[in-house]
Amino acid sequence: MTNKTVVLGFPRIGEKRELKIALENYWKGSASLDELKSVGVQLRLRHWQAQSDAGMATVAVNDFSFYDNMLDLMVILGAEPERFYDIFDPTRRYFTMARGDATHTAMEMTKWFNTNYHYLVPELHEKFQFGEINPSKILEEYKEAQTHGCKGSIHLVGPITFLNLSKCPENVRAALFDPLLDQYVSLLTVLQPLETEIIFHEPSLSLDLTSNDLSLLKIAYNQLGKMGNVSVATYFEHSNEATSVLIHTPIQGVLLDFVHGEKNLRSLDLLSNSDKQVTIGIIDGRNVWTNDLSASLRQLNEIAAYIPKERLRLSTSCSLLHVPYSLRHEISLEPEVKELLSFAEEKLAELSLLEKAFFEHGVIEFPPQTKNHTDEAVQSRLKGLVPDDFKRFSPFSERQKVQHALFSLPILPTTTIGSFPQTHEIRKVRQALKKGEITQENYKESMKTAIAHCVKFQESLDLDVLVHGEFERNDMVEYFGEQLSGFAFSHNGWVQSYGSRCVKPPLLYGDVSRPDPMTLEWSLYAQSLTDRVMKGMLTGPVTILNWSFVRNDQPRSLTATQIALAIRDEVDDLQRAGIKMIQVDEAAFKEGYPLRQENRAEYEEWALRSFLLSTAVAEDDTQIHTHMCYSEFTDIIRTIESMDADVISIETSRSGNRLLRIFQEVGYTQEVGPGIYDIHSPRVPSVEEMEKQIHLLLEVLPATQLWINPDCGLKTRGWGETEASLKNMIEAAKAVRAAL
Ligand code: GLN
Ligand code: ZN
Repeated sequence: MTNKTVVLGFPRIGEKRELKIALENYWKGSASLDELKSVGVQLRLRHWQAQSDAGMATVAVNDFSFYDNMLDLMVILGAEPERFYDIFDPTRRYFTMARGDATHTAMEMTKWFNTNYHYLVPELHEKFQFGEINPSKILEEYKEAQTHGCKGSIHLVGPITFLNLSKCPENVRAALFDPLLDQYVSLLTVLQPLETEIIFHEPSLSLDLTSNDLSLLKIAYNQLGKMGNVSVATYFEHSNEATSVLIHTPIQGVLLDFVHGEKNLRSLDLLSNSDKQVTIGIIDGRNVWTNDLSASLRQLNEIAAYIPKERLRLSTSCSLLHVPYSLRHEISLEPEVKELLSFAEEKLAELSLLEKAFFEHGVIEFPPQTKNHTDEAVQSRLKGLVPDDFKRFSPFSERQKVQHALFSLPILPTTTIGSFPQTHEIRKVRQALKKGEITQENYKESMKTAIAHCVKFQESLDLDVLVHGEFERNDMVEYFGEQLSGFAFSHNGWVQSYGSRCVKPPLLYGDVSRPDPMTLEWSLYAQSLTDRVMKGMLTGPVTILNWSFVRNDQPRSLTATQIALAIRDEVDDLQRAGIKMIQVDEAAFKEGYPLRQENRAEYEEWALRSFLLSTAVAEDDTQIHTHMCYSEFTDIIRTIESMDADVISIETSRSGNRLLRIFQEVGYTQEVGPGIYDIHSPRVPSVEEMEKQIHLLLEVLPATQLWINPDCGLKTRGWGETEASLKNMIEAAKAVRAAL
């Protein structure tokens, strides 16, 4: 077998989520550590087997983890936070860092670049002292692969990315760079005798780098590159700036993403004049569609015009961690959808096909891709769009007058973000419907009972603006996807989100349309029960897009426009039926921002237009709300302003009024509901505490501009704490109103 392909990592959760089950059993105490470890052994073996069966000359070692690779790396590098040193048992310490216990809060977790995978954030500070390195995990897994006849390449997050993801201030980074590098050097000294390739994952090199980053990069790989067969992998974007540095270091080669970082082509000249091995990330490692192999082959040949084939290898664009395991279990997917798909196992097969075509046969023709899921009605509607479709009828100042007259709410109106507690019983009812155990009629009755209870509950609390409670929704994207054309749902398409948590994103494969209203019945029923204002509740187009696997045969912007049209129809149906306050959630608007500055303006433009298209159908007296699950608006405040929502609710409860100031600084005029308490914890804040928070907000924005609400939906909370918190919130609002 020639060494012409390499895999950057395989989904470790297991074909049937074996790792999830084993972890949860271990945490519950119903499985022993040995049992957990043996599941790890079996999974690794199976995953290596899959790689070598597909013809990969080497398999990925150290891509497995019982929780997270960054956490593993902290252990390996002696970089565990000191606050866990009181736990001596290594396994207990490991899982406590990840999950916390009675005396330790868990480490912070955040998204791995622009994926939906979450890593644990290293806790570095200026005086941080690294402990001993601890390479046993890598050595053991390497040997394990060897025992099974597999040659492993070792995968590790590299020093630049490790420091970058530690989110420490510049001075700490500067102080810790040398000691960190020493840890890596010690590690490589231990790994060197294995005489195998060490692949450093450095996705941070695909971000906008400072000249300081580049000089650290040079120092790091001048040193590490001398220590054996070392390569550097970047992904999710091009890394041209870093490439121009790396080619002058003694590393063996670079692995570059030519799928999401096509601009890496600009480095071909440089690379051709260097002696580096170049591994071409050509199979999309983070989306679920089959590669257009003919197009891939054309691209490979373009690259081969610069770099001799002897110096080339092929790989996936990033670790396959970000895609589901296998299509084998998808028995209920429509054949015309299934044929579009390629999960991790299928991607290995694609890689191997491409390898043969490229290295052995020269040019070969692959069957043309048969993707044609267009809907003529959608297409002609898109063609008919005019600028006015993206603009509300009147400016906000005029709309505000009409809306105030219509709703006649008190100042500092109180409301919630939409969902109320999703109890076990509610989930059981939804599952029973899915399994066909109850009729549609029974189901509706149960949901209506829940809605009626929720409406009564809100009235008894004296909330000003009510919601129906979202009991019918399993998930804010899946609920809509299931009712839209162009979406499909896999049976087993799980992707690890963090630890044992997995998500099953919708598959957005074709033109999107809305055959029937999606929320109208629930909202109207809820409204029929009360004289108070009932707020309709929708998920916005950008969020639906960003939380799905999106077709790649047309620009994302176009797909977003199609979703926007579907949501627009729902907005219009709601307002015509008398629901005059409608919230369009954009929880994932910010997540979709491209990694590099150079691409942000374009995203902002189409994301904004999509939101506008979905909401601008609202008459002046229909009040559009939006909600965003974060608080850092500084860099995108102008975009938020241009979304032209009449009211925006945001998450600021944990930061006093600091993050709200930007709204004041830019002279933001629309209304704002800065969440006044944190729904991520069961804690019930007192009336005084919330009053204080409202006064803090009033230092920044006038009462006429403020709404009072929790900072996100209440679906993960219990009814008891929800009642207590909302009661206090409303009492606080009333007290402040009276004082004004
Ligand atoms: N309306 C949704 C809810 O209340 C919003 C959730 C979110 O922003 N993540 O659950
Ligand atoms: Zn939220």
